[in-house]
Amino acid sequence: VTIVHSQETTDKENAAMTALWFTQALLPDGWAANVRVEIEADRLLTVTPGAARQTGDECHHVALPGLCNVHSHAFQRVMAGLAEIPGRAGDTFWTWREIMYRFAQRLDPDQLGAVAAMAYVEMLESGFTRVGEFHYLHHERNGHAYANPAELGLRIADAARRAGIGLTLLPVLYMASDFGGAPPRDDQRRFINTVDSYARLHEGLRSALAPMGMKVGVAPHSLRAVTPDGLSAAVALAGPAPIHIHIAEQIGEVESSIAWSGQRPVEWLLDRQPVDQRWCLVHATHVTSQENAAIAATGAVIGLCPLTEANLGDGIFPAAEFVAAGGRFGIGSDSNVLIDAASELMMLEYSQRLATRRRNVLSGPAPGSTGRALFDAARVGGNQALAISGDGLRAGAAADIISLRNDHPTLTARAGDALLDGWIFGGGKAMVDCVWANGKVCVVEGRHQARTAVAARYREVLRDLLA
Ligand SMILES: [Zn+2]
Repeated sequence: VTIVHSQETTDKENAAMTALWFTQALLPDGWAANVRVEIEADRLLTVTPGAARQTGDECHHVALPGLCNVHSHAFQRVMAGLAEIPGRAGDTFWTWREIMYRFAQRLDPDQLGAVAAMAYVEMLESGFTRVGEFHYLHHERNGHAYANPAELGLRIADAARRAGIGLTLLPVLYMASDFGGAPPRDDQRRFINTVDSYARLHEGLRSALAPMGMKVGVAPHSLRAVTPDGLSAAVALAGPAPIHIHIAEQIGEVESSIAWSGQRPVEWLLDRQPVDQRWCLVHATHVTSQENAAIAATGAVIGLCPLTEANLGDGIFPAAEFVAAGGRFGIGSDSNVLIDAASELMMLEYSQRLATRRRNVLSGPAPGSTGRALFDAARVGGNQALAISGDGLRAGAAADIISLRNDHPTLTARAGDALLDGWIFGGGKAMVDCVWANGKVCVVEGRHQARTAVAARYREVLRDLLA
């Protein structure tokens, strides 16, 4: 009986283990060839460079560690391409926000879950293996709390679980329509909490998501949407968890901050809050050189969302200056107007080239591949912003892996960093082959395993909303 039992155990262990073999892989100490990787449950059991391929191994081309998407509003996926017609009096972030609010007011819990699942499927297909969801849609359409106030946050978590993407949920505290605690607008009613109702929401989500291995941070929406006391209360709830806040995305926001306090948003924040490595300052587009250096010195991450920032006409963050000061950044898909990890990195570099009329601006101090510098920086910053430690392709780390195709013409006869440059500047998500997140294969030959079902439901939602 004992022998049979131990045999059963071994069979189960074998069944739970996946062995992969890659022609090239980006390991923590650099590129390696012929890398064999064993996955057990959600972890990498072994990572062996220079290994022989064994019978039963799945063979793949290039392995990269997964990327974190530090900033997403999943529901905004429904309006991709629907805000590209100018209004009569010109068009800005603020007119885009009016359209976004119209969608935010209509989604029911099922629809929100369907849209989020679509966004998360597309994130995985592009190489994001974890998302920081900056979640501010909390209440029923009439502004009343759901029977379970955490209802919509749980729908987000369920969508992430179905897609298989790692989730760091960032429930948002939204209190006011402008600096100084101006009363919220009617079309913000689904977002609004008091400090007390937010604390209950946060606790409800934390206790529900912990058993699923999902993390919960805090997200005071912005200095215009929380009072100083509300901000302090949210920060106190965080403990060691991530603290994310929108900051200085718009010139108008900076001007309102100065009118209210005499200080720019970043100046005000750094003077009053213990900004440190837990913090992710999202956008920080409009900063002075002094603010940029001050943020870098705190160890906080700046959450850059290059495609959305370009789409919204936000402006260009002075990234070269920030990186030279030792600043850390992560990348986010934010409005999800286009979901593509590599294209976010490309847009970040291209915005700097357009602003400086130079090339390879973010390649770092030592001459080397710009793609590699962008990828490494976004991984380090992204992991910090979503509180992931011990990652990368090494034993014991979470099994989050991206593989690139071996039959894409652009990647012909390339090795090492040239593969990253090819992916980021010459191909994007069309080059992604397979993606594993938390040890499970989610994407095969560029297509998420659940794409058909998730896309069918998404189409129904979109038809209803646009009818
Ligand atoms: Zn945002």
